[in-house]
Amino acid sequence: MLNNLHRTIYEKGEVIFQEGDAGDCAYLIEEGVVEISVTVNGLEHTVNQIGKKELFGEVALIDHMPRTATARAQVKVVLIIIQRNMVNELLEKTDPIVRHLLLVILERYRDRSGTAQALSASQLIDQADIATKRNSIRGEAAQKLTMSSDIGYALLEGEFEMYYQPICELSSGQVAGYEALIRWHHPRLGLVSPLDFLWLAEKTGQIREIGFWTLERACRDWPTLCKSTNFAAPFVSVNMSPSQLTGDSFVEDVKSIITRYQMPPAELKLELTETVIINNSELALHLLNLLTDLGISLAIDDFGTGHSTLDTLNRYPIETIKVDISFISTMLTSVRSGEIVNSSISLAHSLGMDVVAEGIETEEVRNKLIELGCNFGQGWLFGKPSELNNISGK
Ligand code: C2E
Ligand code: CA
Ligand code: CA
Repeated sequence: MLNNLHRTIYEKGEVIFQEGDAGDCAYLIEEGVVEISVTVNGLEHTVNQIGKKELFGEVALIDHMPRTATARAQVKVVLIIIQRNMVNELLEKTDPIVRHLLLVILERYRDRSGTAQALSASQLIDQADIATKRNSIRGEAAQKLTMSSDIGYALLEGEFEMYYQPICELSSGQVAGYEALIRWHHPRLGLVSPLDFLWLAEKTGQIREIGFWTLERACRDWPTLCKSTNFAAPFVSVNMSPSQLTGDSFVEDVKSIITRYQMPPAELKLELTETVIINNSELALHLLNLLTDLGISLAIDDFGTGHSTLDTLNRYPIETIKVDISFISTMLTSVRSGEIVNSSISLAHSLGMDVVAEGIETEEVRNKLIELGCNFGQGWLFGKPSELNNISGK
């Protein structure tokens, strides 16, 4: 990125750019003072004098319109040039809502400064190109804003529902517990998959509220759900998103939910991904220890897709690892997947952890997993996620 930054020097009185010039960079003043002026009714007026560490010409970083002011060195100045292409790259990676807001603010600014200019043919083509891009950004932003407002309603209007998928002991096929999986009955879109809205809720912060809702619902449903299994140590497993694990109040809130619903902590398992550990290891370790002190157990979800090692995991109070579906579904056809499954199972067992294989769809896969010593499995072979009524009515 620093390759895009270089210095330039202007002597006293020299024009850096003037009104109408094409702009494709901004400047940071390293030394000296710059005078900014605009022309009104043919007369030039100084509107600002800016000095060290200040930025000017920055609007050109976002759009391709001509300069709306003149910048002149008042004394000898040293400037660092920031090219648009550097910012463009960052802007492309930015959230569409932020991008859209920047463009709207910029349009308003342009409207106010009222610099209608005759544009050349190539500028017109550029403008058309920008307009097309802007429409697509606007569309993306509008879609996200609508979806996020819909999520807010969904929480208020009770449009979410918990489905439960059995997790079985592989050898006997007996149901040992259930994983709680959220579903959204959207009034216009129908049944929406969690993969289509949780990522957004994660960005907007709504995931915290959704997280507590799922935990409450699972605890509330557990007395009914657990009647459908005779397993000696039954459990319900609830997914947790990384951003839930951010402060002590999380542990207090979990405590108050399990107390309110008289949920036996030993029957509650929280599933988290390796991201939680990788992103915030010390805080995560502290909070996870507080949770296990309450008697709750922890599982690492999607194991093998993150970058943690079992050695790292061993520092955490993890009871169960869930080997990711991507390895299970290919373990009979890919030598590499087979090896990953095999070594995950033996390493987990050597650390005293249980293993759940995710996404078992066939008897062949189940049998191979039994052969490898895997204890538990989850997948369509045993049952798809379904509503509480369907399970308790069985
Ligand atoms: P996950 O935690 O890995 O959940 C397992 C996913 O695999 C579920 O998808 C489940 O329906 C699917 N699955 C289970 N067995 C099979 C199988 O045999 N074959 C195939 N092809 N798929 C199988 P689902 O319910 O769509 O959930 C997707 C993801 O959304 C979950 O992945 C989890 O990361 C997230 N999620 C779901 N519910 C919640 C929730 O309440 N809170 C949070 N934070 N995340 C959730
Ligand atoms: Ca899970
Ligand atoms: Ca998983």
